[in-house]
Amino acid sequence: VVFSASPLVNDKATVGVVVAFRDDTERREADSERTAAEKELRRANEVLSQFAFAASHDLQEPLRMITSYSQLLVKGYQGKVDEQTIFCMRIITDGTKRMGDLLADLLAYTQLSGEEEDPDQPVDLNRIFENTLDNCRAAIDESAAVITSDPLPTVSGHEPHFLQLLQNLISNGIKYRGDKTPRIHVSAARIDGLWRLAVADNGIGIAPEYHHKIFGVFKRLHGKMIPGTGIGLAICQRIVERYHGQIWVQSEIDHGATFFFTLAANETKA
Ligand code: ADP
Repeated sequence: VVFSASPLVNDKATVGVVVAFRDDTERREADSERTAAEKELRRANEVLSQFAFAASHDLQEPLRMITSYSQLLVKGYQGKVDEQTIFCMRIITDGTKRMGDLLADLLAYTQLSGEEEDPDQPVDLNRIFENTLDNCRAAIDESAAVITSDPLPTVSGHEPHFLQLLQNLISNGIKYRGDKTPRIHVSAARIDGLWRLAVADNGIGIAPEYHHKIFGVFKRLHGKMIPGTGIGLAICQRIVERYHGQIWVQSEIDHGATFFFTLAANETKA
């Protein structure tokens, strides 16, 4: 029971007191139910991410064995077995390589769930942009991509996160370019106490009905013709959410895609 009392005053003196007793059982029960549910949810999340980590990490070991032994077979039996056998062996090595890529990306995704021990640091996104260009150099040279940027802000966080975020978005802009020379522009706008960053490309675009789906793990719109694991955008989403931001895309088929994400702007400078 919650008890409250307030004096009843007229212009001269206190003439009485209003006393109220309120039955607080329902609110308290709801509070403790919510706390228990939150605790259970946190535990279930932890178990799930431990499971995903163990699965993606431990599966790599037997996969490495299958990969190296099938490569040995391909090399050792070249010229000694018929075409059909060589073809089958190649399918096995391609399959194991793809599974290796999937597991590596899944591992990167699950590792993002852990809270880092180091505190957030100021991160200059202009430097992250330059590092991204260095890391994507081969793809940029091969596609003759033109990648530009406005002056970007300094934000608070962990450098590797922002590098991964920008790198995934820019390399997708190059990868999903279609026939045109890729043109990608990174910009930043200050909106309502947030930085809204945008990575705009002139590539093949995404139909509106897939704008949400592409952020799911393993969700891909383009088949084997364009390599990928379907985890890049899920990683981007996880990074942005780690900083309490949002990520979304605006796009139409054949009219390029612009990926937006928000980051907190407090204690940051332009
Ligand atoms: P991946 O590129 O490895 O397939 P992502 O998670 O990075 O995985 O992207 C998911 C899907 O979203 C891609 O398979 C592709 O179909 C689509 N996509 C991502 N970025 C773009 C883009 N810039 N332009 C067009 N489609 C894109």
